[in-house]
Amino acid sequence: MFVSIFNYFAIVNSEKPEDKDFNYGRGKIEALASLLEGLIITFSGIFLLYKAYEKYIKGEKSLYLNESLIIMIISLLVTIFLVLYLNKVAKITKSMVIKADALHYKVDLYSNLAVLFSLVLVSITSYEIIDVIVSICISLYIIYSAYELIHNGFLVLLDKSLESNIVKDIENIIKENDVNKFHLLKTREAANKIFVEVHLVFDKIITLYEAHKISDKIEEKIKLLDNNKEWIINIHLDPYDDSKIKNER
Ligand SMILES: [Zn+2]
Repeated sequence: MFVSIFNYFAIVNSEKPEDKDFNYGRGKIEALASLLEGLIITFSGIFLLYKAYEKYIKGEKSLYLNESLIIMIISLLVTIFLVLYLNKVAKITKSMVIKADALHYKVDLYSNLAVLFSLVLVSITSYEIIDVIVSICISLYIIYSAYELIHNGFLVLLDKSLESNIVKDIENIIKENDVNKFHLLKTREAANKIFVEVHLVFDKIITLYEAHKISDKIEEKIKLLDNNKEWIINIHLDPYDDSKIKNER
């Protein structure tokens, strides 16, 4: 519940427009939230693993089996509803945080199912070891599924470039136009924003007006690659190839 509340504030803040203090917006809050959610899920997995170990060592007995069954069925139904709803919203918004939350509750759903299964088995057979084994399996599954959230959050925070096929598409768009060469193509993304910067090399005698017009055309075409994203494209107009000079610096 606390993670979801935190996510709510992450989404509200990440969607704020750029301002004097955050010139590139606050999109990375989403990645940070995803990372934190992954860490919290990992810790709950480790805690569950520890609890299973404790139960095994102390040989604790499961109590209130019938009440537990009713609780598990109710929470199972609530979680199914939550997962379906979050997945629907995640598909529409493509929000990293909501995707993370959907995954989080999906993990809960599977663990609820496993708990229900083990409760039924324990109440029939009264083999407490079933509860321990199921707990271990669930905790390993929880830790495994949290890895993706942590990994994806990290990539955005470290400014990983776009998927290689999209970078290829951008390169092809540039090549289709009246540009001699290009260099220093850099891409990254955060929340719904994609950042692209590149140097285009023009003929020395082209007018600034013409060169700028070609750049604008390239920008417009790049933006069409994904209409759902906000593209922030920064093109540097070079009158000659300065890439070698830049690299030697
Ligand atoms: Zn350059």
